[in-house]
Amino acid sequence: MTSTGPLAPRLPSPLVEVRDDRFDRHGLRLLLKRDDLIHPELIGNKWRKLAPNLEAARGRELVTFGGAYSSHLRATAAAGRLLGLATVGVVRGQELADRPLNPSLSRCAAAGMRLHFVDRSMYRHKSEPATLAAILREAGAEGAYVVPEGGSNAAAVRGCRALGEELRGRSDVVAVACGTGGTLAGLAAGLAPGQRALGIPVLKGGFLEADIQTLQEHAFGTRTGTWSLDDRFHFGGYARTTAELDAFAENFERRHGLPVERLYVAKLLHGLTTLAEEGAFTRGTTIAAVITGRPFPQAQGRSDSDRRQRA
Ligand SMILES: *Cc1c(COP(=O)(O)O)cnc(C)c1O
Repeated sequence: MTSTGPLAPRLPSPLVEVRDDRFDRHGLRLLLKRDDLIHPELIGNKWRKLAPNLEAARGRELVTFGGAYSSHLRATAAAGRLLGLATVGVVRGQELADRPLNPSLSRCAAAGMRLHFVDRSMYRHKSEPATLAAILREAGAEGAYVVPEGGSNAAAVRGCRALGEELRGRSDVVAVACGTGGTLAGLAAGLAPGQRALGIPVLKGGFLEADIQTLQEHAFGTRTGTWSLDDRFHFGGYARTTAELDAFAENFERRHGLPVERLYVAKLLHGLTTLAEEGAFTRGTTIAAVITGRPFPQAQGRSDSDRRQRA
């Protein structure tokens, strides 16, 4: 279903070297792993995480969860439209039901996703069986195939192992921005011995190390691969930004002609540049930065209350 047809991916995704004096100076090579080019609508890691779940759903209606600007919801809605599969998006924030849809949710609705809004306290408890059952009942989606918020279940994590496998022998370090950490969990498992994965969390909180270990235990039975996190580059939390980060991202776009997605990829590239300048990598190290997404322009410059919401 996924190698041909409407979800046909471009795999392996391209790996390109860029010359950047901030890395050159320290004897480092920087490669960009262009997962943003895998599929025009299931962008980046969203293809790798959703494809195995769409397979597992076997045509059943698919329910998933996200915030008002969730790229996971947009990708799921697009997959539903392309495959002719019914999708339901459970959206955090009952109050959003009474407002015009924002551009991200409009995109979901236009793709045929049924949106179901729930209040924040119910949303918070959505992984508890009784709450989940109540949400599915209210949404008229009992018996549907459920994909968790952010799309990171065991199938998704196993799907991301191929990202690591594509990078075997190509770099010493592979760096990726983390939301749920599902991509890092799979990626690390696919790398060869001697390679290591570095995660840059975009959420504040320091809970991710344990989450990623749990994701690996569910997907592979045990913690696996060599990976670590650097928690210094979240810029205040999910969808938070600063003038410095914006300037960095614009400059990176000008230097390298790469559209820099701001919620995740900008923080990753800024983190790597800072680490290079700090001398954190020994000379001769090759670093592959995973470009997990593309900008969704309307998601930027939004209100403060929107910004407080997670992926
Ligand atoms: C969803 C997303 C991520 C986060 O992936 P996780 O597997 O949840 O860590 C990273 N980058 C981009 C561009 C994304 O859209």
